[in-house]
Amino acid sequence: MKGRIPKRLFSVFLAAVMLMTAIIPALALNSAGFEYEVISGSTSARITGYTGNDENITVPDTLDGRTVVEIGAGAFSGNSRIKSITISSNVSRIMNDAFKNCSALESAVIPASVSAIGQSAFAGCVSLTSVNINSASTAVGHYAFEGCTALKSITVPSSKIGNAAFRNCTSLEAITLLDSVQSVGRYAFDGTAWFNSQPKGLLTLGKTVYTYNGSEKSVVIPDGISCIADYAFSGKNVETVVIPNGVYYIGTFAFYNCASMKYLSVPRSVISIGTQAIGYNSEGVIEDFTVYCYDNSTAYNWSKNNSLKTEIIDGCTHSFTDWAAVVESDCTNSGLRERRCIRCNYLEQEGTEPKGHSWSGWVTLSELSCTVDGVKRRTCTRCSVTEDDVTAAKGHVWGEPTVKSEPTCEENGESEHICTVCGTTEVFETSALGHTWSVNDTTDGDGWITVKEASCDEAGEKSRTCSVCGKTVSEEIAPTGHKADEWTVLKDATAITPGEKQGKCTVCGKLFTEEIPIIHEDLPDDVESLTLVSGASVRFDESKNFLYGVHEGMTVNEVLVQFKYPSHIRVADYSGNEYQGDHLIGTGMCLFLVRYDEKTQMDELIDGTCVILKGDVNGDGAIAAADARLALRASAGLENLSNPYRFAADVINDGSLTAADARMILRDSSNLETIVQ
Ligand SMILES: [Zn+2]
Ligand SMILES: [Zn+2]
Ligand SMILES: [Zn+2]
Ligand SMILES: [Zn+2]
Ligand SMILES: [Zn+2]
Repeated sequence: MKGRIPKRLFSVFLAAVMLMTAIIPALALNSAGFEYEVISGSTSARITGYTGNDENITVPDTLDGRTVVEIGAGAFSGNSRIKSITISSNVSRIMNDAFKNCSALESAVIPASVSAIGQSAFAGCVSLTSVNINSASTAVGHYAFEGCTALKSITVPSSKIGNAAFRNCTSLEAITLLDSVQSVGRYAFDGTAWFNSQPKGLLTLGKTVYTYNGSEKSVVIPDGISCIADYAFSGKNVETVVIPNGVYYIGTFAFYNCASMKYLSVPRSVISIGTQAIGYNSEGVIEDFTVYCYDNSTAYNWSKNNSLKTEIIDGCTHSFTDWAAVVESDCTNSGLRERRCIRCNYLEQEGTEPKGHSWSGWVTLSELSCTVDGVKRRTCTRCSVTEDDVTAAKGHVWGEPTVKSEPTCEENGESEHICTVCGTTEVFETSALGHTWSVNDTTDGDGWITVKEASCDEAGEKSRTCSVCGKTVSEEIAPTGHKADEWTVLKDATAITPGEKQGKCTVCGKLFTEEIPIIHEDLPDDVESLTLVSGASVRFDESKNFLYGVHEGMTVNEVLVQFKYPSHIRVADYSGNEYQGDHLIGTGMCLFLVRYDEKTQMDELIDGTCVILKGDVNGDGAIAAADARLALRASAGLENLSNPYRFAADVINDGSLTAADARMILRDSSNLETIVQ
């Protein structure tokens, strides 16, 4: 190795020699490792290099008594140790490449005193995650932060952002531009995570139109935008771009080389238009390109200076584009269309009529016949709605019938009908004619001849004969019945049972009986409750809800006769079954006093009560072993008796059901004891 200098050391040596020979008079080395030079003609210093080993660097206010005002070109570039940098507020410029490729640099704070960040000043700082730019007057130079791949978010207050300033910051997804932005350079944010995730169309950042990457011929920039970035529409195939009033800045080459664009209307608000921004292509000013603008406006003066054709908007006699549908009308719904004045951007909108259906021809779904409806259908070729035309079937038209068989007196005939339209054949029945009874001197008007006379109690017979078929039919003549002038009453009728009377027939002399109908007494209007006759053996409880004193074996009638107006009382159980006459009365049967209402033709309920036959627990009117068993089960809690059956079971009348009750019922049923009713 002796005598040979390694290549790497040799190049360091060579660089040191070159530096020393070039700027040695102004160079100085500070004890902290900062190299600087004195800015000629001043007492200020510019940092030119750093030889220290610190990871966190604070740029000093002064070096050897000289105010540090600049960080020189490439001063820290390529340093792989520095992690953070704090810059004093005396510094006004960060020059080109100052921190370029500082691979460990994680954060940088740039004070408001800095007016410019030079080209590529922080480019390639792949660890940089935090950048604080503190002033709108800090211009960000071209490529200043290009390739800072760790940077995720950035707020840029700067009014000027250079070309490709943040290009390929591949992690940068949150970009905040403040309203102070006046120009954004070409490709400034291309290749960022934000850029790569944008949909096609107009890309905006804050109030800046960054670029347009859609395919529409006509673009409307929304209200609220104030800046159009450099090259925003350059080379795009747009014909018209509507710039709203409120846009102030149009960047360099913003509408450069738009081959389809023949005019642009520039609002009064625009105060700055960049180089070749409007009406230029690679051959210079586009012939016949018109700038619509306000008299004496920035756009007017700029166009004149660039020898572009202008037309003044003031007092615009609108020159409209063709109508364009905003919402297409369809068959049944209105649409909306709009057009815009190419000179002043005035927007006109109007509704459009529904188009109405576009019908196909009629298609036959079913042919009209005597029995089938004729259906034709047409379909809209646009929306597929269908419309049917229905002709109702008229039914067959029958011609003269052909008799298949004639009807007779008793049997139907048949006739065949043929439809004169469709030839369908159908056989119809013709009704039987009925007999034609012979009427003559020996018959009555209906043809009857008495064969045998009827007597009081024996039927007679009559017959008649059909003159057509000769058939003879016979019928009974009802007995005439006995007749009497005087009667002997055998049994009087009551309100609940008919009576019987006997008479001697004045015709045949026989004795015969006839029923005397029930006496149906009127129910006076003021009767409101069931009332017992005096001396009745049954009795109500205090509330009149229950009827006591009914004995085993009593019939319905035997109970009814104990009431006034018995013919107005109905007897029924809880299930609605009615009982009459000799039917046994039992527990649970109810007596209802009703009044017949002529208007509704219905019985109207006036009052009611319910029978309790002590010992008759199952309500069948008899006191038997079955009742005792039921009472015993109830006393043991095996059966749940409701009123009035429970009352009927409590034969001891102590208010509770016990085995003693059951025992007494059993003894009564065996005639060993009698339950007091
Ligand atoms: Zn106009
Ligand atoms: Zn339609
Ligand atoms: Zn027919
Ligand atoms: Zn006949
Ligand atoms: Zn008689």
